[in-house]
Amino acid sequence: MGYDDILHRIRTAETASGRTAGSVQLIAVSKVQPDARVAEVLSAGHRLFGENYVQEAQGKWPAFRDKFGPVSVHMIGPLQTNKAKPAMELFDAIHTLDRPSLAQRLARLAQDLGRCPDLFVQVNTGAEPQKAGILPQDADSFIATARALDLPLIGAMCIPPDGEDPAPHFAHLAQIAERNGLPSLSMGMSGDFETAIAHGATHVRVGSAIFGERDYGTKTSVP
Ligand SMILES: *Cc1c(COP(=O)(O)O)cnc(C)c1O
Repeated sequence: MGYDDILHRIRTAETASGRTAGSVQLIAVSKVQPDARVAEVLSAGHRLFGENYVQEAQGKWPAFRDKFGPVSVHMIGPLQTNKAKPAMELFDAIHTLDRPSLAQRLARLAQDLGRCPDLFVQVNTGAEPQKAGILPQDADSFIATARALDLPLIGAMCIPPDGEDPAPHFAHLAQIAERNGLPSLSMGMSGDFETAIAHGATHVRVGSAIFGERDYGTKTSVP
């Protein structure tokens, strides 16, 4: 299974970049994967997963949590304001806080619910028009705004542009997090998590390298 291999590569990358062993958390990205593959990784003892879609996560995690006990599930996909309430009820962390209107909505819900998931600010380091995330030049003021709303910010997150060297994007995100006092860095996917670890990632989000390619056509079929 890809899982053991990825754990091993993460430990190797930690050592190679002088990071403390165990300082990088693996978020196993289970979106669109057959339940049987996800259950294998749960059976191997893994308890931290990432999902992109509120509805899909609502459909699978209550049952997995009944069967396997407490599992942390992080929201890593774009969050629509009208899905904020179920997202706050289901997820242990949200990596995609990226606009003032969402910050305001989360702050109001946090008051109602009396709790709030850990939050990462998503930064659009490549300033790509089609991509979610606050623009880098707006990140400092957005972080200040979110803090003024008493939101529990713990880190910053990015998805570098396809086909570009991700290293400068990881370095840029690390700078933004550092100057704003955010301890966590959510960066690195199947193709570049070792580079992200070298740049200080604390959370890597790895999907296909663990579970295999996602098949959007036959989402419910089990191989
Ligand atoms: C799907 C996804 C991942 C995982 O991607 P892989 O290339 O399969 O590892 C990581 N981060 C985000 C934000 C994603 O949407």
